[in-house]
Amino acid sequence: MRTETLIEKENKEIAKQYKELLRISYQALNAEDKRLIRSAFDIAVDAHKDQRRRSGEAYIFHPIAVAKIVASEIGLDAISIASALLHDVVEDTEYTLDDIERMFGDTVARIVDGLTKIAHLKKDRNISQQAENFRKMLLTLHDDVRVIIIKIADRYHNMLTMDAMPEHKQVKMASETLYIYAPLAHRIGLYNIKTELEDLSLKYTEPEVYNDIAERIEQTKEEQQRYIDDFSKVIKKSLDKEGLGYNIKGRMKSIYSIRKKMIAQNVSFDEIYDKFAIRIIYQSDTENEKFLAWKIYSIVTDHFTPNPVRLRDWISSPKSTGYEALHITVMGPEGKWVEVQIRSERMHEIAEKGYAAHFKYKHGEQKELGIEEWLNRLQEALESSNGNAVDFVEEFKLNLYAKEIFVFTPKGELKSLPKGATPLDFSFHIHTEVGMKTRGAKVNGKLVPLNTVLKSGDQVEIITSEIAKPNQNWLDYATTARAISKIRSSLKEEKKLIAEEGKEILRRKLKSQKISLGEDVVNKMVMYFKLKTSLDLFYRVGIGSIDNQKIKDFASSYNNAFISFFKNKIRRKPVPADINREEITAKYDMLVFGRDEEKLNYKLSKCCNPIPGDDVFGFISVNEGIKVHKKDCPNAISLQSNYAYRIISAKWIDSSQEEFTSEIKLTGIDNLGLMNKITEIISDNMHVNMRNLNFSTDGGTFTGKITLVVKNKAILKKLINNLKQISGIEKVVRI
Ligand code: MN
Repeated sequence: MRTETLIEKENKEIAKQYKELLRISYQALNAEDKRLIRSAFDIAVDAHKDQRRRSGEAYIFHPIAVAKIVASEIGLDAISIASALLHDVVEDTEYTLDDIERMFGDTVARIVDGLTKIAHLKKDRNISQQAENFRKMLLTLHDDVRVIIIKIADRYHNMLTMDAMPEHKQVKMASETLYIYAPLAHRIGLYNIKTELEDLSLKYTEPEVYNDIAERIEQTKEEQQRYIDDFSKVIKKSLDKEGLGYNIKGRMKSIYSIRKKMIAQNVSFDEIYDKFAIRIIYQSDTENEKFLAWKIYSIVTDHFTPNPVRLRDWISSPKSTGYEALHITVMGPEGKWVEVQIRSERMHEIAEKGYAAHFKYKHGEQKELGIEEWLNRLQEALESSNGNAVDFVEEFKLNLYAKEIFVFTPKGELKSLPKGATPLDFSFHIHTEVGMKTRGAKVNGKLVPLNTVLKSGDQVEIITSEIAKPNQNWLDYATTARAISKIRSSLKEEKKLIAEEGKEILRRKLKSQKISLGEDVVNKMVMYFKLKTSLDLFYRVGIGSIDNQKIKDFASSYNNAFISFFKNKIRRKPVPADINREEITAKYDMLVFGRDEEKLNYKLSKCCNPIPGDDVFGFISVNEGIKVHKKDCPNAISLQSNYAYRIISAKWIDSSQEEFTSEIKLTGIDNLGLMNKITEIISDNMHVNMRNLNFSTDGGTFTGKITLVVKNKAILKKLINNLKQISGIEKVVRI
């Protein structure tokens, strides 16, 4: 009896939630929409009937809650609401995707399929795994962007109902939300949900910090309301006088952004002066919207001094997310700076709802950037993404949060790009086709390099050419994820094509060297040319940086590898060719002995008959002076071991090469014929040349300096001794 009552109560609550879902839908629902949502609701109820959440409540409350977020906070259509109701059906129950398609058609089926795929991705604490999930999730955008929006709503609701989960799972989910879902929500223009996701994440990752800030905000609430009232009082009269319909509210900074500011500026809660902003939301028709914003600006600044560097005009140049408003900071009551956000009701709705509101207002206007176009833009960047998923996410996140610049096309259309963007980024932003054919760019009428950093207000004209195509340098010129991924995949494509050609060229060239292109040869070549992959090898052959000669060099080293292998086997030393032999004979024409390389008399031994150039040694024989033997003479070993003390080293030298200059100084008593005698002795010594001669006499004494070219020290020594023998010479010394 008691159980029945509880279930009845629960069923009543489910019915109530369902009615509320229809009631709070932002989009007007027609009868057909309602039928679709009703049958989705019925199937979801049936599918999840035996499931309960960890908290104990019936599972169906979760899909209903997600559908409510989609319907009301995000404001999407009936297809989205139905898909949200069904988002866990295929993942968690007996129903199949075919069932969904049969009952709801292929649009709903595709969305549910995308959501099921995301749910299947293995969840891991590992950051690269997260990033990989993220990438795959974004790839499902290919089917429908509504997949991503419903996924955000799903995550939002899970974050709201996370208390029953174990703590480690809470922290993991919160981190993932901060890393992936909050930036995504921001990019889609779901500012409120982004803020909620951030605050909820902080609540689980740093509960103490979160509670502390939340408490302090609560404490300062009254004070703030008083401040806002003071502010309103001052401008109310002037606004009323203009007959404006308006509403003045305070807007507290989120807990997460206060926390961020406290860390970034290293300040306490109390030291943050812009914890809240004042919002003036005014009524207006489309025509007067901008005019009225500036009228209100004028009224506010009549009473409060504005800070000129803190004026943001998002009305003339809306953010790429579609955000429009006029932001000013003024010196408010009590001498405190306060930010004032001036928005029309329409602008406010867009800020709150994002794209859904955008379409509602802009419906029928062709020029408006639709969600489809936005989706396509995002999609293009994602599809061609390859490589490291973390890099990709970082790159992508950078783009999400980057400050924007606004530039103009030659026709005066406004385009928003991330700060730091170049003409090449602009080019790819316009269209991939334009990007691919970029030849040059003009900024404000002047030709500029493709890596010029664009500034807000620049007018950019892209010069295209049919023969232009991306090259490696472009990767340095582009900064946006979209351009970089496009260039990369184009380069990769081209490299592949060239590599294919290169492979055929290589096959032909190796064939002419009697080598066939097998895996082993490819591996050896990759190693030989110090490359990483076979693709690199084929590509280099294709572009000709590995040319005919290099291939031949490889071929001969490859073929020689066999020959030297056999040579080593029989341990044969290479024999110098005959030409070398003759060269050596001619060149090494003189034998010198001992450490001083003296020229001595010798005889060549008959037993081994050495010739110039041979490795030799001298043996001092008893009767015949020095006899020269080859080192490998059959008698050498016995001579060397028995008469080691009679061995003198010997070597062949090149008589034309071995010489050094030396200077000697002679002093003595000047007498007739002395000069002659000196030169005679020097000339008579073979292998000594005079290069410089300098004599001077002074009062009967003489000094001479002679520069000599000699073969070795021994010769010089002998010469000096000979010179000393001349009568009248007193001293001969080397300088
Ligand atoms: Mn779910």
